[in-house]
Amino acid sequence: MTSYRDFHRRSIENPEDFWREEARRIHWHTPFDDVLDRSNPPFARWFVGGRTNLCHNAVDRHLAERAQQNALVYVSTETGIERRYTYAELYGEINRMAAVMRSLGVKRGDVVLLYLPMIPEALFAMLACARLGAIHSVVFGGFAAPNLAARIDDAKPVLIVTADAGARGGKVIDYTPLIDEALARATHQTPHVLLIDRQLAPERLNAHYLVAYEPLREQFFDVHVPCEWLESNEPSYVLYTSGTTGKPKGVQRDVGGYAVALAASMEHIFEGKPGDTMFTASDVGWVVGHSYIIYAPLIAGLTTVMYEGTPIRPDGGIWWRLVEQHKINLMFTAPTALRVLKKQDPALLKKSDLSSLRTLFLAGEPLDEPTAAWIADALGKPVIDNYWQTETGWPMLAIPRGVETLRSKLGSPGVPSAGFNLTLRNELTGDACAPREKGVLTLDYPLPPGCMSTVWGDDSRFVSTYWSSIPNQQVYSTFDWGVQDEDGYVTILGRTDDVINVAGHRLGTREIEEALSSHAAVAEVAVVGVTDALKGQVAMAFVVLRGAQISADSSERARLEAELSATVERQLGAIARPARVVVVSMLPKTRSGKMLRRAIAALAEGRDPGDLPTIEDPAALLQIREALGGIGAN
Ligand code: AMP
Repeated sequence: MTSYRDFHRRSIENPEDFWREEARRIHWHTPFDDVLDRSNPPFARWFVGGRTNLCHNAVDRHLAERAQQNALVYVSTETGIERRYTYAELYGEINRMAAVMRSLGVKRGDVVLLYLPMIPEALFAMLACARLGAIHSVVFGGFAAPNLAARIDDAKPVLIVTADAGARGGKVIDYTPLIDEALARATHQTPHVLLIDRQLAPERLNAHYLVAYEPLREQFFDVHVPCEWLESNEPSYVLYTSGTTGKPKGVQRDVGGYAVALAASMEHIFEGKPGDTMFTASDVGWVVGHSYIIYAPLIAGLTTVMYEGTPIRPDGGIWWRLVEQHKINLMFTAPTALRVLKKQDPALLKKSDLSSLRTLFLAGEPLDEPTAAWIADALGKPVIDNYWQTETGWPMLAIPRGVETLRSKLGSPGVPSAGFNLTLRNELTGDACAPREKGVLTLDYPLPPGCMSTVWGDDSRFVSTYWSSIPNQQVYSTFDWGVQDEDGYVTILGRTDDVINVAGHRLGTREIEEALSSHAAVAEVAVVGVTDALKGQVAMAFVVLRGAQISADSSERARLEAELSATVERQLGAIARPARVVVVSMLPKTRSGKMLRRAIAALAEGRDPGDLPTIEDPAALLQIREALGGIGAN
């Protein structure tokens, strides 16, 4: 067995040879001419000239050997529906969906926007796009109409696929009014909206633009749609993510590099073998859902479990019962879910037979030591933290147990994955840090296969956002702080920018500030991330009102604070709703007018904001302290 060190060194010193070998894991309709095109840094093109298709690799390729194996097990504790699809059945459903899309004019290179809850059709639709060579852009079903409208205008879809409703925690969320509003707000005219009717919300099919899926599915029941053989670097999808500006970035991914990277990750990191069952508790609207609910498990010939519901309904034992019932081998979730489960009766975990489970993977946010220790002890199985971003598509840091059974170190997601040439750098000089010295996590050119190719429709933003922030070096910045020890293990120490992480979801504080500023009463606002015992971080907003004095009447203040929170929810969705909105008469700033966000965050967490010699008016800090009246870190 090769050692991790040799394996990683080879991937950095000779990426061409390394990835040429890894590329054998997938089917190429036409072999590639070059492994890597480095002619236009920081852009990298992988497997140039090779032709392949993600849907063929995820489904068609397995029909010879595993047509009767389950490809998808779908469980909804919201609707009580449970369905299984073999690879053969999945093939049929994807072909029907692809035929319906084709009948609505979708062709290679077109964008299809999916605004869907966790239903099997979300998986069918993504793979149908891949089949047709269309580019899917999945928008998380919790996002609000203005948010959706911004993505419609940026992605310019020819088709939107949606459903009548989503469901969460027993509550039905009617999607069609939201789609109505988003389409009315968007400048781009989307020709068709295809509706999957789950019969959860009132019949809305009379809306003039809606096309019902079911009758068309019947019409195209036996149609076979051939796979489009795409050049490896054609776009497969666009997934929007938050940054420091209000405008979300469309992360564009390729076809061949993504397929190879995911297949490699299933071997080296997840140790998923054909026939295994993997349950990734995420949402198709996030990158973890794209990579590890949909593409990676299917490309590697596994059974994927797709789950609609919360971890505690009908009770906190539901996920463990799923492990027993479906003989789940690999499970993947975010630390927040475990912190929720930790509060449940511990006996629930012991009630199910978890003998099938080999490993639990966690990602998306920092894994705190008490949670890591609790779950490792309760399960008695390896718990593997892994660190990555929407931009990288697969883990940058992990314990590659498929290569070498390195030990885990509490507090660290592990060591760099194959192809990630990671260096911690000083943010002022760009120099590499010494071991244990804090720096910005950066990646040297080229990014490995599977990472973002560019920002959708905006190459210059890709360069200026990601490759221009470190002085004297053209390197990719993750915008995360970290330290690396002598053995190569990295610990993540939080973001360098104004992005916060709420329950594993990335939010730009700037977006929330913009939403609050749109309220007529608001003159000025500062949003900061504050440590939270359950969600990791929550957003807290401090607002200065226009003209008026702060009302001394506490019920009037509470009403206004609730109204401001609701404004954020309407514009960005419930996930962005601040934990608190606090009205103050001024915000702490330097004499040159720079907002002292770190001081605000420190106060909100009950910490000392330290010496602030440049502050314009220290009374602003006092006011925040008084307004919080003892709330802070919990
Ligand atoms: P997203 O693109 O939404 O997946 O968010 C990516 C960000 O989440 C990273 O830049 C980190 O700040 C954070 N993150 C993801 N995984 C981890 C992890 N295992 N440990 C610490 N932070 C993480």
